[in-house]
Formats: sequence, structure tokens, C-alpha cells
Amino acid sequence: MTLTVTILGATGSIGRSTTDLLAQHPDRFRVGALVGGRDAVALAKLAREMGAQFAALADASAGPALAEALSGSGIPNGAGESAVLEAVARDADIVVAAVSGAAGLKPTHAALRLGRTVALANKESLVCAGDAFMRDAARYNAKLLPVDSEHNALAQALGNGPVSDVAKMTITASGGPFRTWTRERIAAASATEAAAHPTWSMGMKINIDSASLMNKGLELIEAHHLFALEPERLDVIVHPQSIVHGLVYWLDGAVTAGLAMPDMRVPIAHCLGLGDRLTIARGRPLDLAAAGSLTFEPADEARFPCLRIARAALADGGAAPTVMNAANEIAVAAFIRGAIRFYDIADLVERACEHFAARYRTAPADVDEALAIDAEVRAWSLEATPRMRAA
Ligand code: NDP
Ligand code: MG
Repeated sequence: MTLTVTILGATGSIGRSTTDLLAQHPDRFRVGALVGGRDAVALAKLAREMGAQFAALADASAGPALAEALSGSGIPNGAGESAVLEAVARDADIVVAAVSGAAGLKPTHAALRLGRTVALANKESLVCAGDAFMRDAARYNAKLLPVDSEHNALAQALGNGPVSDVAKMTITASGGPFRTWTRERIAAASATEAAAHPTWSMGMKINIDSASLMNKGLELIEAHHLFALEPERLDVIVHPQSIVHGLVYWLDGAVTAGLAMPDMRVPIAHCLGLGDRLTIARGRPLDLAAAGSLTFEPADEARFPCLRIARAALADGGAAPTVMNAANEIAVAAFIRGAIRFYDIADLVERACEHFAARYRTAPADVDEALAIDAEVRAWSLEATPRMRAA
């Protein structure tokens, strides 16, 4: 049977890894809809190459460019929110949710409501509205498969074991490009330096989050929702080789772990396989003898305050993670533009969490509420950013 796969965020890093796998298994998969943000040329090229059934861009103003780039292809296309939702509504066996940031909430949630099997890369969906996403996945009988490498490793290490038998789960962090840098050197780092990830090849936003360890903070919150584990049973450890991705510590002292080379096609293939194992051409097999040694060290929250802030947001619960994520997205964009310095990211996020703490004690009841909080915090953060620049 051929499975139809729709990709939200098709032209991004996860999107490309996914289309690479689909192209390797043409008898197994056909491409449904492909959704991008604003790059009409890239999306049209990909849609033609993959023989997509539909193509949509989130940016409504890019519609004419997409139509022109697809002219003569026979691929129906559109732009704007309604076109994205039309793409999601098209028949699909698996929807890969790989939009970057809070922009991924609506289309990912729309796929859940349709009861789709969703391979979830967009961790922001769970960070911003985790309670609502998990509740609605159950309500609409949708499956959520974790694409994020740590969570995919945890799911594989957990197997069918009950979470009640788990003492704790640990996700690993590479430590990012600043793992060995002093605080002073990190303080002066440029966006280019922050984006130079030592082990993974990824999109710009997640690269910066990896450098600040905010990505690990987001992933702790993601794990909390996916595995229904309270914060005290979740942990981070730095592992520079990025070979062990997640560890499950059982009550009897046994530990099971998920290992693989740092290649996102491995967890994506696990999701797309739906229980079968897919081969990956041009993949590098894990060679432990060549790797030599696997090392581990504690995460340093003094040099990486975003991890401390994210742990606090997870412990606080309510809408704290939603607030934190929105402020972080604004701060990271400002850092990429060169408007603020590296530690200003953590400062802005912490100030936003403090500013909104009393207002948002309860978790967003649904995606609309999460997006309303997101918008309010973004507006506040944008106000705060120029002041930080002048300081
Ligand atoms: P990229 O920035 O590489 O790609 C983002 C994709 O989303 C692009 O196709 C972009 O299109 C599209 N897009 C942007 N805005 C919108 C929008 N409003 N509506 C629809 N599509 C939009 O990101 P990554 O692939 O790195 O990351 C995607 C998600 O996966 C993130 O949530 C990230 O945290 C998560 N993830 C990524 C990993 C990785 O290795 N990259 C690992 C684990 C998780 P355009 O370019 O046209 O704007
Ligand atoms: Mg990850």
C-alpha cells in the first residue's frame, strides 16, 4: 500500500530530510500536500520534483509568485491561511509537522483534529499548548509520533514499558558551539558563531536555541507532555558526540537508551515507517569503535541561563512555557539581526516570564488562547527589545 505524506514546512531542514527519505522509497510513499512559509521558488521546485498533489504558502502575498512558478505543472496551489488549511485537509496517511516556531501551532492542530497520524517536529506546539494538544490528540484519535531525536530515542527506549515503571528520563544535549567557551566569550558571540553547530545541521532558529540550551529547555517541556512525566523525573545531560539521544532509567536500576548517528533522517524514518524499519541510503552507520569514547558532563546553567529559565517555566506550569517561547522567538530574531547580544536573549525571556507571571497562571485551554498569549508577549517583547539595544 502506498502512503500519502503531507509536509508542513517542506522547504526547511526537517522538510528536506523528509523528502529525501520519501524519494528513496517511491513504492511506499507518495507526496500529498507541501506547505512552505514564503519562498515560492523553493516550494515550486520541490513540488515539481516530488510530484506533489498540492502546494501552499503561508504568506498570502507570495501567491502570485507560487502560481507563476508552478504554471504548466498541473499542481494546484494557493497561499494564505485558508490555502494552508486546505493543504492539511487533503487526504494524507501521515502529516509531518515541521514548521518552525509558534507559526506551526494552527496547521499542526488542524491535522490533529482530523485524526491524522502526525510526525511532530514542531516542538513549539507542545511548548505553547501542550495540554490542549495532548487532550485533542486523544479526543480526535490522532497519533503523535515524536520526530525530535531525543524524544524519538526515548519512545524507542521506552517501548511498551509503562511510564509508572520509569524512575526518570534523560535527554542529551550536544552542548552547542559554546560548550567550552567562557561566559565573557559567549557574551560577545555573533549569530554566525552561535549558528555553527558542532554535530547537527539544522534551521537558524533551532541553531541559536541549541547554542543557548533553550532548545533543551523546550525539549524538557516537550517530553513532559509526550510522556506524561512530571518535571522531577526529567533531566538533561551534556553529551558532545550526539550519539546517545535519550535514556530511560527504570525503577530496578536498568537503563535503556536510544543511539544513532546525529542524522535527523533516522528519527524521521522511524516515524514514517509506522512500525517497519526503512533503509536510509547515504546514511552513515553508527561505528562505536571509530567514535572511540562517549563522554557526558552536567549542563552548566550559569553559562546557559536559558536552561534554568525553561526548567522554572516547566515547574511553574500554566502559561509560563507559552510566554517563555514567545519572548524567546522575538529575542532570537533580534539576536540574528544583530540588534541584541547573546545574553540579552535570556534577559528578555526572564523579564517576560516575570512580567506575565501573575497574568497567566492557567495553561491555555486551546490553540486560540495560546496564540493570543503568544501575540501579547511578542508585542511586549518587541517594545522591550529596542530598549535593550540602547542599554
Ligand atoms: P527551518 O527554518 O529549516 O524550516 C522551517 C520551514 O517552515 C520552512 O519550510 C519554512 O518555509 C516554513 N515556514 C515558516 N513559516 C511558516 C508558516 N507561517 N507557515 C507554514 N510554513 C512556514 O526549520 P527546521 O526544519 O530546522 O525546524 C522545523 C521544526 O522542527 C522546528 O519546530 C524545530 O524546532 C523542529 N526540529 C528541528 C530539528 C532540525 O534538525 N532541524 C530537530 C528537531 C526538531 P520558508 O522557508 O518559505 O519560510
Ligand atoms: Mg532535539
